[in-house]
Amino acid sequence: MASNKKLLVLPGDGIGPEVVNEVLRLIDWMAKKRSVSFDIQEGKVGGAAYDADGTPLTDETMADAVHADAVLFGAVGGPQYDDLPFELKPERGLLRLRKEMDLFANLRPAMVFDAMADNSSLKRDLVAGLDIMILRELTGGIYFAEPRGIEDLPDGTRKGFDTNLYTTPEIERIGRVAFDLARKRESRVTSVEKANVMMSGVLWRETMTKLHAAEGGDIQLNHMYADNCAMQLVREPKQFDVIVTDNLFGDILSDCAAMLTGSLGMLPSASLGAEDPTTGRRHSLYEPVHGSAPDIAGKGMANPIAELLSFSMLLRYSFDMAEDADLIEAAIQKVLGSGLRTSDIMQDGMARVSTGVMMDSILQALNKMTS
Ligand code: NAD
Repeated sequence: MASNKKLLVLPGDGIGPEVVNEVLRLIDWMAKKRSVSFDIQEGKVGGAAYDADGTPLTDETMADAVHADAVLFGAVGGPQYDDLPFELKPERGLLRLRKEMDLFANLRPAMVFDAMADNSSLKRDLVAGLDIMILRELTGGIYFAEPRGIEDLPDGTRKGFDTNLYTTPEIERIGRVAFDLARKRESRVTSVEKANVMMSGVLWRETMTKLHAAEGGDIQLNHMYADNCAMQLVREPKQFDVIVTDNLFGDILSDCAAMLTGSLGMLPSASLGAEDPTTGRRHSLYEPVHGSAPDIAGKGMANPIAELLSFSMLLRYSFDMAEDADLIEAAIQKVLGSGLRTSDIMQDGMARVSTGVMMDSILQALNKMTS
């Protein structure tokens, strides 16, 4: 039996509990068929936590997240919480987790299963088999740096301003994550900024170059301006392996790359913190890109694949279980290839299935692949 891995599961609201429940079925399957066991703790977050405890995240759940080896998150929010004061809104629970776990590295893969290539707005050839990773710096840069504000000017007009600021340690720590990720993939990193027009970009490029010379001898590093990267993502996305970039460019480029895949219900993500120098462990939180989808909650219509792929990222990046992650992704590929679709990814000639039937089929595929 493999050693226990401490997992905090936070299903949240709306379809969150529905898709997390399907991951729990997969975890059961892994215990029975792969002899992998997890030490699972479940907690409340978002509206569910507010309903139970009057806050979107209790201090106890926050402490559990810090002590867990990884956190699997569903989704939060719903119209019944829209009128709550800002500090009590469901999203505050997620923001508190990100802040107190210091999750500075946001991983957004863009993967296109062959069977789904026609869902993309790009031609099939350009996207079939696509597998790229956008790594976005999440806690620094223009969304946080000071000075920022809106001020009145003597002539009666006003000015609005923000500051894009990165220090060398901030660039180095995200650069190291990029190199680590690339080592588990094709060992290629594209570092993206606008060193042609921004001083923070000049420092970003210099720092990445130095870090590469010191620690990245096994990695192929190239630099690209952000505007060119946007063009290349829609021109020839398969040229990339890992793209690392700052908070602002990462926000835009990761949404652009995600849409190459054509469906919100298929998109996983991960957020990682700094490596503990003694244990080598990183705080980590894995979640689908989609929200709580109140319009379909409780109807058995949710696509569980984004949550399943978030769990497969958890296996790959927090527990070094690449073989199991590959297996899960291959099972999803098989089921999609057999023509089963939840409503959100329905295409002509395919069979529409519920959340539960999609998961039943994925478990059956796993059974076949491992028997
Ligand atoms: P959403 O992602 O919840 O839904 C957008 C559309 O995509 C809806 O039509 C929904 O039915 C569909 N959809 C999303 N995930 C799906 C899935 N797995 N399977 C099938 N269809 C799916 O975004 P929204 O409607 O803008 O927001 C709904 C609520 O979720 C809001 O309260 C919002 O604040 C919250 N939200 C939470 C997160 C999060 O928890 N990280 C992220 C985004 C939005």
